[in-house]
Amino acid sequence: MTKSNKTKPEIARRIRELPEYLFAGIDRKKAEALAKGVVLIDLSIGDPDQPTPSNIIRAMKLAVEDPANHGYPPYEGTNSFREAVATWYKTRFGIELDPVKEVLVLTGSKEGIAHIPMSFLNPGDLSLVPDPGYPVYNVGTRLAGGGSYYLPLSRENGFLPDLEKIPARAAKRAKLLFLNYPNNPTAAVAGKEFFGEAVKFAEKYRILICHDAAYSEVYYDDYLPPSFLEVEGAKEVGVEFHSLSKTFNMTGWRIGFVVGNAEAISALGKLKTNIDSGLFSAVQVAGIEALNGDRTVMEKIRAVYQERREVLVKGLKEAGLEIDPPKATFYLWIKVPSGYTSVGFVEHLLEAGGIVCTPGSGFGLAGEGYIRMALTKDKDRLNEAVARIKKIGF
Ligand SMILES: *Cc1c(COP(=O)(O)O)cnc(C)c1O
Repeated sequence: MTKSNKTKPEIARRIRELPEYLFAGIDRKKAEALAKGVVLIDLSIGDPDQPTPSNIIRAMKLAVEDPANHGYPPYEGTNSFREAVATWYKTRFGIELDPVKEVLVLTGSKEGIAHIPMSFLNPGDLSLVPDPGYPVYNVGTRLAGGGSYYLPLSRENGFLPDLEKIPARAAKRAKLLFLNYPNNPTAAVAGKEFFGEAVKFAEKYRILICHDAAYSEVYYDDYLPPSFLEVEGAKEVGVEFHSLSKTFNMTGWRIGFVVGNAEAISALGKLKTNIDSGLFSAVQVAGIEALNGDRTVMEKIRAVYQERREVLVKGLKEAGLEIDPPKATFYLWIKVPSGYTSVGFVEHLLEAGGIVCTPGSGFGLAGEGYIRMALTKDKDRLNEAVARIKKIGF
């Protein structure tokens, strides 16, 4: 097909065969509704609506003016940023990290998650990937020439994968196990007991665990998410990805980091030195301020989501929807009413109510039967969304 069209460049199979990035399809449907004049309430995307805290912006402004930050940054991250990560880890989780060998800065955690399969998979190898899950685990695996073996997450199992159900022939071919708690999209959390089981599984099959902890700081009430590295043996078999995006309203700044197993950090670092040339040092200065500056900043951000969670959970329950209040993350994972598919219910809310949500099935087959709403709009908009749902019914 591409051959016959001689005026266009021929695109590689690995790109042609990639699934469309989840939100591209939703964006198109939103545009159609907007064109019809619908006033939308968009609860579909996990991008914080609040600005980056001012202390972080101030740190960045000063750093931008400093010529010391204008050259190529060190590949692995500046020493001061990696030390700040180690300090934060010690304070937050009680874990010691070697800032030189066990910490690597990333251009947002998505970048590291997408790249790590290239450091560990040979063609034909597998990654064990949660379903539903963040799409990048599968995409990174495929770009590295590997395949995904999906681990279904269900409400009965608390949205934790049943590792014992993984057939030995799949486990033997697997090089990576992706986990993500607090979880996107299900908002589930995992305790140290589960992480301990995962470590044993990884030891048995020599698999590297990649724990995505993007939501470790978005939690409610008296729940405090643990680090995967808190369990014994974790650092021997795993790494943990962190993001400043959700924690500090910094999605646009592109800064994250990965910590843990020194060999794994070094293998990912070796790949990255051949692809990027590090992360703008001024952004890393801002990152230091975020991690170890004014700690009330994080509490204020959590308080905002907590209030929104109360509003939306209560309202949706009144409207008759089934929902477990999340202990962490800014997502609600909502069971679709009987008679609807995930996509059907999302379309109903969009077309009849102008409310944009994400179909659970967009995160994998096992997400069918759910939709995801994000708490990334203010209280008034959430109240308005509830009022609209009560009015249109289902
Ligand atoms: C948002 C998100 C990320 C990526 O965050 P970055 O902005 O790339 O740091 C990674 N994992 C999950 C599950 C996310 O929701």
